[in-house]
Amino acid sequence: MGYLEDREVSTLDASRTYFDGINFTELHKPDFPSGGTKAAWKGSIQCAGQAVEIILALPKDFPDVLPKIYLTSQENLPLMPHIDEKSFVCTYDTDTRQVTFFSEDIEGILSDSIDKARKVISDGINKENTIDFVDEMLAYWDIGIQFPVLSVVDPQTTLQTLIIAEIQNQNKSIVRILAENREAAAKIVTNMKLTGVSTKYHPVLFLSNISPFIPPFPKTNVELFEIFDRDAPEISKSILEFLNKQKYSGYIVFSTSINGQLALGGWFHRPQNIKEISRGFRPGHLEIDTLKTRIAGSIIHRFKLIRLDSKRIHSRVGLDTGNLRNKTVCVVGCGSIGSKVAFNLVREGVGTIILVDDEVLKPENVGRHLCGISSWNQNKVDAVESRIIDHYPDVKVICIPETFHQAYIQHSEMINSADLVISCTANLALERTLNNLFYTNPEFPPLIFSWTEPYGIASHALAIVQRSEGCFECCLSPKNLHFLREAVNSGPDTFFLNEAGCQTSFIPYSALDVDQAATISTRLSLRLLFGELFENIGMAYLGDISKAKTHNIKLSKQYDDIAAFSNITYKVKKWDDCKVCSG
Ligand SMILES: [Zn+2]
Repeated sequence: MGYLEDREVSTLDASRTYFDGINFTELHKPDFPSGGTKAAWKGSIQCAGQAVEIILALPKDFPDVLPKIYLTSQENLPLMPHIDEKSFVCTYDTDTRQVTFFSEDIEGILSDSIDKARKVISDGINKENTIDFVDEMLAYWDIGIQFPVLSVVDPQTTLQTLIIAEIQNQNKSIVRILAENREAAAKIVTNMKLTGVSTKYHPVLFLSNISPFIPPFPKTNVELFEIFDRDAPEISKSILEFLNKQKYSGYIVFSTSINGQLALGGWFHRPQNIKEISRGFRPGHLEIDTLKTRIAGSIIHRFKLIRLDSKRIHSRVGLDTGNLRNKTVCVVGCGSIGSKVAFNLVREGVGTIILVDDEVLKPENVGRHLCGISSWNQNKVDAVESRIIDHYPDVKVICIPETFHQAYIQHSEMINSADLVISCTANLALERTLNNLFYTNPEFPPLIFSWTEPYGIASHALAIVQRSEGCFECCLSPKNLHFLREAVNSGPDTFFLNEAGCQTSFIPYSALDVDQAATISTRLSLRLLFGELFENIGMAYLGDISKAKTHNIKLSKQYDDIAAFSNITYKVKKWDDCKVCSG
């Protein structure tokens, strides 16, 4: 037998011995509390002076995963945190699973799990962990909900008005989106490619930063108003006024502070009998107190808000994006580097991206490009946009399928108002033009240039962000316009390779080399956007210099002492006769 089979036998033997010792009975398969269980035992444990019957189930992957514990009944117990509607007792955070344990110690794992469950149940009986209801309020709020609502609203912002868009599909199912206005909702509909037959917009009553609800949650209006009448009668009043105006039905969204952060939840009112409620009044013109009495018994339908806003997506990866959300970056050139720079910037939290490129994506581009063959023949700007909004549906992407010249003629105001322009065109003439624009036009945004050398021997990012001496032009040889910091001595023109039987040519470097160029230019961009870049500097990443030997390429002596796969940063030095930045 192999290792796993041997372990399976010894694990079950050790488990049986342990449970015999504490008088638990082994269950048969039909009595297992959940699928994916390989063995389970039932027995009583003492919790806060009370015998509580539990089931301990071993998941199929036990002992690489921890056992699961369930209550056999919740009947004689109060409602308590950490126990879900299937009576599962949550003894650790299933979302992170970062529990370290010795999987060899079967008895230790089993007794430890039971101890943890005993603590949860005892604290629940003694009402010592009620505060945990608040921490996990939304988890409880979402149990047994009627429908989910997708949200692109950042709960931290000062919200004025909100709407819910109901998009009905061909198959009659409804997708609901919470947004700050119709435009924002319509954008999500487009970005998520939701094809609706019809869209209805509903006003939402927003209750800002109210006290968290503690389970059991109100099920009827009378229970709801009871809660508010106690501490905040003005909320009852505003709900009633809203429902009166909306003919007694409507969406209500609230924010509440949980662990210092605002979270969103919501519920829906749907009246049983409008005629009966309106009796003796024009609909919508009831006296508030009469309305309150007449709708007292109506059910409240809780709904779950699923947040799609970038802020949440970013906070899930531990990024503090600061005010990047309010920044705009114009990416000129959406080829292999530009597409990745644009995507990187959005991933880091930049809220608005302007994409400028007049080319379409060809099959030969996809090896190094962000986008794949499914975007064949699309404008590169559109292809990149759809990749961005696929991950961040609320980011603003402005596509300009033009050359930079044409784009700047038509949209100079918009481009001038960007916080940064990144050139990923590897077009030296255009890059010199951008440098000139920056020095001659005080409104032109700071610049970052990004490119990679043949075979990825070096990748570069150059930030020209201050109108001081030492510019892009200063980095070029006045004789032949070769970049003075280039690692490969002969300039890129020498390295154009032709595909067999084709008209197309290319400079050889890999997708990994492109990633390096995109990474260093994104890093420089972030320093600028965070207000940490006060001088014109360059970054060079030295790649696989062994390729220089393989391809008989002479390397510039200035990189002699620099190891392969390392970065250097340098200040841009002024060239005395530079016509752009001097005087
Ligand atoms: Zn200069």
